[in-house]
Amino acid sequence: MNKKTNIRVLVVDDDKFMLEFISLLLRELGVSEVLVAEDGKAGLYVLSTQVTPVDLMICDIEMPGMDGVEFLRNIADQKYSGKIVLFSGVDSDLLKATERLAIVRGLQVIGTLAKPVMVGALAAILEKLAMPVLKTVDPSSFKQIFNAEEVRQALIDDHIDIFFQPKIAASNRRVTSVECLARWRHAQFGYVTPDNFISIIEQNGLINDFTRNILKKSTQQLDVWLQQGLDLKISVNVSMENLDRFNLPEIYQEAVQESNVPTDRVILEITEGKLGKDFAQSLDILTRIRLKGFGLSIDDFGTGYASMETLKYMPFTELKIDRIFAHGAAEDSSTRVILESSIKLGKAFGLNVVVEGIENQADCELVAELGCDEIQGYFIAKPMLADEFTRWLIEYEKNNKNYWNYR
Ligand code: C2E
Ligand code: MG
Ligand code: MG
Repeated sequence: MNKKTNIRVLVVDDDKFMLEFISLLLRELGVSEVLVAEDGKAGLYVLSTQVTPVDLMICDIEMPGMDGVEFLRNIADQKYSGKIVLFSGVDSDLLKATERLAIVRGLQVIGTLAKPVMVGALAAILEKLAMPVLKTVDPSSFKQIFNAEEVRQALIDDHIDIFFQPKIAASNRRVTSVECLARWRHAQFGYVTPDNFISIIEQNGLINDFTRNILKKSTQQLDVWLQQGLDLKISVNVSMENLDRFNLPEIYQEAVQESNVPTDRVILEITEGKLGKDFAQSLDILTRIRLKGFGLSIDDFGTGYASMETLKYMPFTELKIDRIFAHGAAEDSSTRVILESSIKLGKAFGLNVVVEGIENQADCELVAELGCDEIQGYFIAKPMLADEFTRWLIEYEKNNKNYWNYR
């Protein structure tokens, strides 16, 4: 019980009884500080006056005046970085839709509660809060804090490290490849995730040097692994802003050749969102990248715009379904429908289909059953530094020997 006492909770609900009731339950469960607000406006006011941040907000989505959706939009704009639990008496589809909207806005929704609120459900949510905190920096708390000069200096000082996250084959669960994810090793904040600095890099004309540097470091690491006898491929993220020069295929080929690794062990991941910008130029460059032997992946499939057009014209070899369509699919029928049709679509185009963002066993089993080729997500492993990955791989292979032997 004691571990929860320093958690600060804000409850937002227009129903005074509910406010009293939930506050009482929270105190019973050991939360010492419960703040209340009778509507969205009051909630925003309470948040704005806090010196110490609120850890958890329990928010009704049906409120007169400012409803839950508007309230969430406002707190997302204000960069609220605590956890959120949504609750309501509305039907579960609407609650789910609001939850997704909040996640899309970058908020951390850790659960939903249906009315009437049961003490057991509330206790389960508090348990989630008491889980150990990740070492990496929470993106929502640092958005736009950094300026171009700081980022430029970090690149000059070589403060960018690469974390590697494994992908496994759905058929036999063996590790096939790793995605290379940039992290800024920051003196004050520890490892900062790319959502906080990639756009600054893109907007300040630094993306070409940055990507080439990431590609170089990643392929050098691949070379080490290949020499150790590991049969791995790597995936490197390429920004659409990179496709601004026709000699890009040569630049990437050179970077890979300098590391002595074959280009067909390198997959370049591109987010489909902005592919339409200069379609002919993108098509030209991507086709020549393929001709050089690289694999080409459509990243975050389903969240962009030109998906069908992209599939029809662009020479992709892989489709990576965004985690928004994978997370919770085993429990949510509409997520599952989108997931299943995206996998079928990718397979029909002859692409290697990867599902990312798999966080639990049920979703992992489901995507394998639905026919995807590769799986990536926290359920397999979080992104890690190279040494940590090598150690993890040894353990993983040891633990999975039995699984492979019986297949
Ligand atoms: P992405 O390419 O879609 O990479 C997957 C992101 O999902 C990574 O976030 C990864 O840590 C996260 N992730 C993986 N499994 C799970 C899971 O099970 N649950 C959840 N909630 N998340 C999971 P990360 O490393 O913060 O990267 C965010 C994005 O930043 C990447 O999305 C990619 O678009 C971009 N990025 C990363 N490194 C680079 C880079 O070197 N160059 C460029 N241009 N973009 C990069
Ligand atoms: Mg990616
Ligand atoms: Mg992705």
